[in-house]
Amino acid sequence: ADVFLHHKDGHRVPVTVKSIPVYDGEEIIASIEVFTDHNKQHRSILMENRKLKEQLITDPLTRIPNRRYLDFYLDHMMVEKNKFDLKFGILFFDIDLFKNVNDTYGHNVGDEVLKLVSRTLKSNLRSDDKIGRWGGEEFISVLRVNDEEALEEIADKLRILVSKSSYQIDSNKSINVTISIGGALIKEGDTIKQLIERADKNMYISKDTGRNRVTIK
Ligand code: GH3
Ligand code: MG
Ligand code: MG
Repeated sequence: ADVFLHHKDGHRVPVTVKSIPVYDGEEIIASIEVFTDHNKQHRSILMENRKLKEQLITDPLTRIPNRRYLDFYLDHMMVEKNKFDLKFGILFFDIDLFKNVNDTYGHNVGDEVLKLVSRTLKSNLRSDDKIGRWGGEEFISVLRVNDEEALEEIADKLRILVSKSSYQIDSNKSINVTISIGGALIKEGDTIKQLIERADKNMYISKDTGRNRVTIK
């Protein structure tokens, strides 16, 4: 039962009481009562809930938001766009020839390179822009920009920063990777699916024209 006990200072304290009867053969001869601070229990349930929610929207390897979160956030941006006539764009990133990294150095090193790339992308975006892992070696960021020029400027900065960062395997070996980027700005009448498809198509143009490139149109 959840009850309120009278504290010696005068106020009421919410507690949960559990009663356990103690039998002597047939008869109840005593009762064990366990009192737990209701607030504390409540707080720990809230904390547990928060942790579970966090896990649901976080990619376990890179610790950045996962695809589920990106889907949710893109829907939210669409609502904002319709309400406030706000513009936004997305960037689709794919690591170039990433299979080679796994094949040459193993999956664990591949994982470390994924973490490095996600850190580089995340720490160089503005705080109100979002980045998440779309899957495998692909990332999407959602940015509040007004035009393609602004989107391209950010994309190119990120492309260069990734190409200049490296993962140190040991004292005399480090790995560099590059990324191909496709970007798209939300258009009137666009669905989120169409926006992502445009950015994805542009990313493939970047691949086909030599990788380590940005394509926005
Ligand atoms: P491209 O430049 O055309 O994109 O070449 P690519 O090698 O990056 O493309 P491909 O799609 O053939 O390979 C992607 C690789 O990413 C294959 C897969 O093993 C690797 N990969 C996907 N997810 C993970 C992961 O979580 N960890 C590691 N280590 N590798 C991953
Ligand atoms: Mg890919
Ligand atoms: Mg790739």
